[in-house]
Amino acid sequence: MRAVVFDNELKLVNDCEKPVPKQNEALIKVKLIGICNTDYEITKGYMGYKGILGHEFVGVVEEINSEDKSLLNKRVVGEINLGCGECEWCKKGLSRHCPNRQTLGIWNKDGCFAEYVTLPLNNLLEVPENVSDEEAVFTEPLAAALEILEQLHIQPIQKVLVLGDGKLGLLTSLALSASGLDVVLVGKHQNKLDIANAQGVKTLLLNDLEIKKEWDVVVEATGSLSGFETSLSLTKPRGVLVLKSTIAASKEFNFSSIVVDEITVLGSRCGQFKPALKYLADKKVDVKPLITAVFDFEDSLKAFECNKSKESVKVLVRG
Ligand SMILES: [Zn+2]
Ligand SMILES: [Zn+2]
Repeated sequence: MRAVVFDNELKLVNDCEKPVPKQNEALIKVKLIGICNTDYEITKGYMGYKGILGHEFVGVVEEINSEDKSLLNKRVVGEINLGCGECEWCKKGLSRHCPNRQTLGIWNKDGCFAEYVTLPLNNLLEVPENVSDEEAVFTEPLAAALEILEQLHIQPIQKVLVLGDGKLGLLTSLALSASGLDVVLVGKHQNKLDIANAQGVKTLLLNDLEIKKEWDVVVEATGSLSGFETSLSLTKPRGVLVLKSTIAASKEFNFSSIVVDEITVLGSRCGQFKPALKYLADKKVDVKPLITAVFDFEDSLKAFECNKSKESVKVLVRG
C-alpha cells in the first residue's frame, strides 16, 4: 500500500505492507488525514520516530479481529495513544499517560498517513452522521484544545488569553470561547485572527497588545521560547500559564518570575475524543474555515510543503 514515511527523510512510498489487525483491533481504510505540527517536528527529528507518519484521520472500518463487529463499515476516528491496558494509568482510563504506551505515528506505532491503519477497537469512536469528514478529522486537535478544561477549572469572570494563532492556538481559542469563556486570541497573522473573530473570539495583533501581568490564564501556543517569555510576562501573579506546545528550548531561561509571582505552570497535551466529537456534532465550533487546502494522496509531499507556509492553517490529504 502507499504511505508517507519518515526515515531520515520524508518520502511517499508505494510498497508498504498492509497492516494486519491484531486481536481486538480494526483495520481502517483511511479517508482523510490532517497534517499536524507534530508531524512537521518529527521530520526535524522530534521523538526520533521512523515509520509511517500521521495521527489525525477519519476512516471506515473494513475488518475487525474480534467477536464484536459493531463498528464494521462504520466511519470512525481514533484515539492516538495505545496503552498497555494493565497499569494504574490505563485502569483509570488514562492510557494517554501509560508509561508503555505506543502513539500513532509518533512513537512505536505506524501512523495513518497511508491507505490503511490499524487501531484497537477501544480507541475508536463512531463519527455522528452530521459531522462531515472535513470536520471529523479535527477531532484529535480539538480534543487536545479541550484538554485544558479537563485539567483546569476556569471561572467565567477570569481573563483568558491565548498566545499564538497557529492551528492549536486557533482551535484552543475557539474551544474555550465555545465553552462560555471570555477569550482573547493574540497572534501575528490578521487572516488567522479573523477566523476566530468570526466565531466570537476577541482578537488582537501581537503588536497591539500591551504587555502587562493582568491575565488570569494564559495559554502558550506559539511553540517558541520568545512566546513562552511573552506568556509569562502576561500572566498575573498567582495566575496559570498553560503550555500547549512543546518548546524545544536551547537557550538559558530564568525561572525566577515563576517563583516570585507564584505562577502555576500547567503542561497540557492530548485530550479525550468524546467531548471533542460532541462539540463538532453540536456545531459549537466551526472548524471548516481552518482548512487551508486539501491535497490528493499522491501530492502528500506538496501538502507537507504547504503546511510549512506561515499563511497555512490546516492542510488535509485525501486517503
Ligand atoms: Zn495532532
Ligand atoms: Zn498502561
